[in-house]
Amino acid sequence: SLVRKAYVYSAKAHRGQVRTNGEPYLTHPLEVSYIVGQLRLDTASVCAGLLHDTVEDTGATLVEIEEQFGPDITFLVRGLTKLEKINFHSAEEAQAENFRKMLIAMSRDLRVILVKLSDRLHNMRTLRFLREEKQKRIAKETLEIYAPLANRLGIHWIKTELEDQCFKYLHGPEYRDLAESIKRTRLEREQYIERVIDALRRELSNNKIEGEVSGRPKHLWSIRQKIKKSGGGLDALFDILAFRVIVDEVAECYEVLGVVHSCWKPVP
Ligand code: MN
Repeated sequence: SLVRKAYVYSAKAHRGQVRTNGEPYLTHPLEVSYIVGQLRLDTASVCAGLLHDTVEDTGATLVEIEEQFGPDITFLVRGLTKLEKINFHSAEEAQAENFRKMLIAMSRDLRVILVKLSDRLHNMRTLRFLREEKQKRIAKETLEIYAPLANRLGIHWIKTELEDQCFKYLHGPEYRDLAESIKRTRLEREQYIERVIDALRRELSNNKIEGEVSGRPKHLWSIRQKIKKSGGGLDALFDILAFRVIVDEVAECYEVLGVVHSCWKPVP
């Protein structure tokens, strides 16, 4: 009922506002709170996702939000509002200040940052509607601050999605070339991943280790970074795939590593 109340409040506050793509503004807080839900955060965080732009962009006030939703949700909305309010002359100055504010917010309540990351993720997903200069600025900030932050917090799926979105806006032609070459060899690669996963599962069971095995192609940005580092092309790159084995105990990690090294020769 609290989430429903926050939804109605947000719908009323943002009534009449539209995003640059012409959709009702409400779609944004809705999508943000949906991402917050995907992160499996609590009710207060989902509500904060719905309310996060009301104080900044509408007539709503923190006093009113406190009356309606109590101190916990208000604390989160206040933290998110503070992160929005930045007016500086240079981008560097703004970014440094933004980063400082985020660190402070994080030390008080991690949920603020998690909702903020959800906010940024949705903004990146809808970045194509903004002017090119603004796209580049936001993408740069995202790549320098938000993606590393998501990485540090261990939210791999947000990190990779943010990085690939940034890649698209910061190096458009390069992104499209790479995406195209990766696509051409997709079937081959997927079959290869299946084969390796089967082999790994077989070896684990031969060695009586219980583990969860998965494999995936690396995301575009990390492939790009590898190409840059190696100085070669995509063809010269042999580690665009990654495999993961999850086991219960740290000691088993080393057993698995031993099994892997007995099947494939490690590169020093
Ligand atoms: Mn927002």
